[in-house]
Amino acid sequence: MEKILSRNFDEKEPLDLSGFRDKGGYASLNKILGRPRNELIQEVKDSGLRGCGGAGFPTGVKWSFLAKDAPHPIYLVINLDESEPGSCKDREILYRDPHTIIEGVIASGYVLGADKAFVFVRGEYRIGAEKLEKAVNEARDAGYLGKNILGSGYSLDIDVHLSAGRYICGEETALLNALEGRRGNPRSKPPFPIVSGLWGKPTIVNNVETVSHVPYILTKGPEWFKGQGVNGGAGTHIYQVSGCVKNPGTFELPMGVTARELIFEHAGGMLEGRELVAFQPGGTSTPLMLPEHLDIPLTWDGPSTVGSRLGTGGLIVMDDSICPIDFLINVVTFYAMESCGFCTPCRDGLPYLVHVLKKFEEGTATSKDFDLVSELCDTIYPSTHCAHAPGAVMPVQGAIQQFKHIFEEHIQMKHCKYKGGL
Ligand code: NAD
Repeated sequence: MEKILSRNFDEKEPLDLSGFRDKGGYASLNKILGRPRNELIQEVKDSGLRGCGGAGFPTGVKWSFLAKDAPHPIYLVINLDESEPGSCKDREILYRDPHTIIEGVIASGYVLGADKAFVFVRGEYRIGAEKLEKAVNEARDAGYLGKNILGSGYSLDIDVHLSAGRYICGEETALLNALEGRRGNPRSKPPFPIVSGLWGKPTIVNNVETVSHVPYILTKGPEWFKGQGVNGGAGTHIYQVSGCVKNPGTFELPMGVTARELIFEHAGGMLEGRELVAFQPGGTSTPLMLPEHLDIPLTWDGPSTVGSRLGTGGLIVMDDSICPIDFLINVVTFYAMESCGFCTPCRDGLPYLVHVLKKFEEGTATSKDFDLVSELCDTIYPSTHCAHAPGAVMPVQGAIQQFKHIFEEHIQMKHCKYKGGL
């Protein structure tokens, strides 16, 4: 398979402008700038590209929601606030090939008629943000950014913004608030950002991997892009595997590979003598999948056939040394800690859910606590302003069906038989 976004990942240092150009970088812009925008949006639609931040919303469809008479300025905001535990693909692009991001932003910005782009970088990726800033300066000096890019009449500049560091700022409307200098709480949707976003102006928020695919789609064609995928997927995706495997890492592979291929071929398989018990396909907010799901293609639609989601494609692998309840405590504790505190079910419900789950580990839970876990999840899920709390409870809702016997075992044995850990 042809590596696309990760083609320069093996370089010792990220390529500077001349190194990037030597490898064909920025050549796409001469072919894209000046072409009719409606034609380009249609090609993105036809390619099957979907939002790589986790939602998988069809990118070309989202872009076509931008009104033809949308008032300027139009903003393009790149979400590089990758904070979902188990996800680290955006980090790889940022640290290993920042010029790829810039080329994607310029191509996407042109298609959308954006006047200004912002790249919102996760606070912990400070060194990556510095690398990107350096690359932006190089690109600007070479005429790829600024006024009248390559004599095309199109002008765009990029601001790199380092987040103050908070998980919820990755939610697109919280991100916009943070960028405006406000508290990073999510806004109500609708209006969607494409109608009223940054400072009330039309704003397209896209994940960094998503826009990085665009120059390739618009030069090699939508059919080429589709052909890179397998099992109904389009293009490639940078999958990530962590947890109880021999060789955790990031792997750019055809969209649609199976978890079996990812875990056992690319990530080296399970640790010696251990067995696969479950995996989250796309970060901690995605419901668990089981060994019987190993052959389901990891496309935007595959995991949903068994009640899960592809999410970021960051697999977290759990083996038979891990207590599933302990695992869930870890997950929900994270979301409880990161709650913005705006909604009571999230602010107070998640810590309470952790408290009840801990009773199973401590050996004090009864069957009433099992019912309570279920009730709590059902109450929290539909009652909050944004998707933060639903993301926290979805893996628990799945697990109380998949691992009911383990909850019962904890109640009967009055302790946790797992030692845990890698
Ligand atoms: P969403 O489905 O609400 O929206 C997806 C995108 O489509 C957004 O940009 C939204 O504005 C746009 N959109 C949807 N309907 C629209 C409409 N009718 N008109 C105009 N635009 C429309 O999902 P979301 O809340 O943006 O993202 C949720 C996902 O984020 C989850 O699936 C989760 O996997 C993922 N996530 C990722 C990370 C990370 O670190 N990458 C962290 C947490 C969650």
